[in-house]
Parts: sequence; structure tokens; C-alpha cells
Amino acid sequence: MGLTREQGNGLALKMFGEYYSKQDSSSLSPEKVSQREFGIGDFERKIKFRHAEFKNANELKDYLVKQTPAFVSCSTAYYSHPSFRPMENKGWLGSELVFDIDATDMHLACQKEHGSSWVCDSCFTSVRDEAIKLIEEFLVPDFGFSNHEISVNFSGNRGYHVHVSNESILKLDSNARKEISRYITGSGISFEDFFIVEEIGQGKRIKRLAGPKPTEPGWRGRIARSVIKDISMGADHLISTGMDAKTARNIYKKRALIEMGINNGNWDMVYVKDKAQFWSDVIKSHAIAQSDRIDENVTNDTGHMIRLANTIHGSTGLLSRKMGVQKLPSFEPMSEAVVLPDAPIKVRANTKAALHMKNETFGPYPNAEAEIPGYAAMYLFLKGFAEIMR
Ligand SMILES: [Zn+2]
Repeated sequence: MGLTREQGNGLALKMFGEYYSKQDSSSLSPEKVSQREFGIGDFERKIKFRHAEFKNANELKDYLVKQTPAFVSCSTAYYSHPSFRPMENKGWLGSELVFDIDATDMHLACQKEHGSSWVCDSCFTSVRDEAIKLIEEFLVPDFGFSNHEISVNFSGNRGYHVHVSNESILKLDSNARKEISRYITGSGISFEDFFIVEEIGQGKRIKRLAGPKPTEPGWRGRIARSVIKDISMGADHLISTGMDAKTARNIYKKRALIEMGINNGNWDMVYVKDKAQFWSDVIKSHAIAQSDRIDENVTNDTGHMIRLANTIHGSTGLLSRKMGVQKLPSFEPMSEAVVLPDAPIKVRANTKAALHMKNETFGPYPNAEAEIPGYAAMYLFLKGFAEIMR
């Protein structure tokens, strides 16, 4: 006989609490803890109640150990009185700038196969690359933030949260934040913003497509550099970006000529059918994937709550581990965010794909019993792919 859902949840919370009890209170605490609003969730609702506050790191740790919730969220804003309500009475002091990069917003091909609740190795790599792209191609070069002003934490499930804590962004209102979001997602930019058809020669007989050069700042340079890079990666890569095979082979064959043209702002060295649509698609493919519902986007909302870094995610048992920017490229969530105990637990699991954790492979399980390490058992149980056997 297996444990009931409730008994399994209780076992998970016991493990979460034991983990918290062994941690240093400062590692569990956000900066300026006393100015943050907290949201507390159970297994049904990620934020069941909000407007909670903690005077200091010890008080927060004490709560996590004794009352152990399934989810803990924390405001990206700082307030004079975080527990006051309604929101207007809290005394807003400023908000961090936070970007929520999640695999579900990236419309990955693999997700169509395995569904949105399963996270495969390719999902993890894609979402990590997206977070790196946000930092290396937007936040640092275009906005001028430095690496030490940026911190990253794994979301605990299938994404990353990128936090910027620069004094100049604290007081930005939600309109300014919306503009930043629109910039990095490439919203509202189109072919006409970057390319003009120059008419040379007699009448309209000779046209030339003039576009951005790689040395230009911001989006213009990014488009030019990205296209040169895409072309150098071969015809198959071009086809994978949605180009038809004939055009892709033609472009790859003439790549030296095309690159020379783009370096001089001349984008007409090769024939492309339906140019406007073609280059608009290229622009989109180099933007950052964030929530399509731009009005509910974490980045814009000065009153938003986000998973507290270094706490455990109740749908996975993984830690929303905080790291510096330098760590991100080598971060392996399924090893480095694993914090629950190894002690084996017997499960009945039903999975279509193998689970990879801490360099071991578990399953796939065709509705079968297995005795596996506690962290893997809890991951499958919390995601709804297994029940825990007694
Ligand atoms: Zn996947």
C-alpha cells in the first residue's frame, strides 16, 4: 500500500525542514530581509497568504525550520512596513529588477513531446543559454550593468531568475520596467526599423537592401552579428531556424560574399524570398523569451513576489540555488540543486523518459516499483509521476 498524497507531502516537508535546520540563517535570507514582504504557500497554492514579514534572518530561519512551508516567495520590492495592507500602506522604497526566464515561455520542440511538467536535459540547457544570453547580450553591453550587480538563482524547477540590484533601477516605475521588458523581448520592433530599400539607378529598377552593421550598438549590431554567426554554422543550422532548404544552401555557399556585404551594411548580396518576413523572424529568434503576457510579466510589476533564493521548490524538492554570474554556464541543476537525502525510498513510478539526477539514470518506469535515492523519489512524487510506497 502506498502513502496517501497527504502523507507523502508531510514526508517532503519533514525533509525540507531538516535541510533548513542545517543551514546558516544568512544563506536563507534575502538582502534587506526586514524590508521584504513574504508569501507562504502549500502544495495546492504557491502563495496561500502574503503580507508576512520577518525582522531578521534568524526569525526567517526559525519559521522555515518550525513551520516549514512548501513554497516561500519574497517581494522584489523593499517597503518601510512590509506587512501593512493594502499595498499602498506598505511604503514602497524601491524594487530590484528581476527577469524570470522559464522553459515554458520558450516553446521548445521537446516540450511538445514530453509535456510541460517534465523537464529534460535539453530544456535545462536551453533555459540556461537563454539566461546567459540575457546577461551577456543585453544586461551587460546594452544596459551597462556589471557582473557583480547581477545575481542569478535557479528557480527550483525549469528556469532561472536574474536579479539586478543597481541603485539606479530601484525607483523605476512599472512603465519604465515594461519598456525594458519590451526591449529585451524585441516587442514592437520590425523589419522597417532596421532595413531600408535604397533605390539606386534609374527609376525603381535597381533596389538595394541597406541594413545594420556588426559594429553598431544595441539591437542593430546584434542582428548583424547574429546573422553572420548563423550563416557560418552551416546550411542545416539555417534550415533549423526555419529557412527553406534551397535558400539555406545558397546562402551558405555564398557566405563569404554575404558576410562582406553585411560588414558594409549591404544586405542584398543574396536573394531571399519575402525579405520583410524573413528578417523579422531572424530578429525574433535573437530576442529573449519572457512571458508572453507582458502585463503580468515579473520584470514590470513593482509589487511582484518571486521564489526566495536558496529555498526548496515544493513541486520538485530542488533548491532554488543562488549563484554568481560566472557560475551559470557550468551550473547543473539536477546535481547542484539536489539537497534532499540519499536514503533510498520505494516508489511506484510512471514515467515515459529516464530521469537523470546526480549522474545517475532512473527509469523510465512503466508503472513499476523501484527503490531509488530519496531525492529522486521525492522529485518524481512531487511532480506527480510516482507514489511513495511504505
Ligand atoms: Zn525538454
